[in-house]
Amino acid sequence: MVKILIVEDEPAMLIGLRDNLEFEGYEVDTADKGDTGYRKLISGNYDLVLLDVMLPEMSGFDICRSARKKGIETPIIMLTARGEEMDRVLGLELGADDYITKPFSLRELSARIKTILRRTATGSEKKEENNYVQIGKLSISFEKFDAFDDNGPVKLSHKEFEILEHLLKNKNAVVTRDNLLDAVWGLDYQPTARTVDNFILRLRQKIDSEENQHIITVHGIGYKLVL
Ligand code: CA
Repeated sequence: MVKILIVEDEPAMLIGLRDNLEFEGYEVDTADKGDTGYRKLISGNYDLVLLDVMLPEMSGFDICRSARKKGIETPIIMLTARGEEMDRVLGLELGADDYITKPFSLRELSARIKTILRRTATGSEKKEENNYVQIGKLSISFEKFDAFDDNGPVKLSHKEFEILEHLLKNKNAVVTRDNLLDAVWGLDYQPTARTVDNFILRLRQKIDSEENQHIITVHGIGYKLVL
C-alpha cells in the first residue's frame, strides 16, 4: 500500500486530509510538529510527503532542505498559503517536487499525488499496480483488492486482504496474534484471538491445498506464511 506522511499543524486540515487520503486507499501517517515530521520523513518509510510550510519547531523549508541533504528522495508536495509566491519558488529550489496553494480542492491534491507517484519509479503504487503475488492457490493484487485462482475470481474480505498482506510482509517469520491484531484491527477495536483464528481458517480454505500448506500455525504464538 502507498504510504503518505502528512506534516501539518492545523488540526482540521490534518484530519480532513488524513480521512480523505485514507478513503482513497492510502496508508496515512501524520505529524503536527516540524521536528517530529522531519524524524518521520528521514525514516524513509513513506512514498510521498505532504509538507506544510509554517510549522512549530521546524519549518517545512528546513525539513525539505535537511532531508534532501541527507539524501532522502521521498517525493514532497509543499502546502503553501495563498499568495506566497516566494514560498513556492523557494520550496522547489529546496528540492520539493510540487506545491499546492491553500485552499485547494481535494480532487486537485489527489491528482497531483497520483502524478508524482506515477513519475516516481520507486512509488510502490507503480510497483504493485500490475503485480499479482502468488500465494498458494491464489493470485493476489493487494493494490486492486483482487484475487483469483484456477477456477476464477475469489472473494476476499478487506480484513482478509489486510491479514494476508501483513503475513506476506513478514513471510517465513512468525507473526504473533497480538502483532496481527495491532496491524490489522488497530488499537481502537480489538477482536478476540478466536476471531483471528476464524479469519485464518477462512484464508486457509482459499489458499492452501491438501499437498501445500502456506499458513502455518505456530502453537501458542501465532502464524507464519511460508512461501
Ligand atoms: Ca501551518
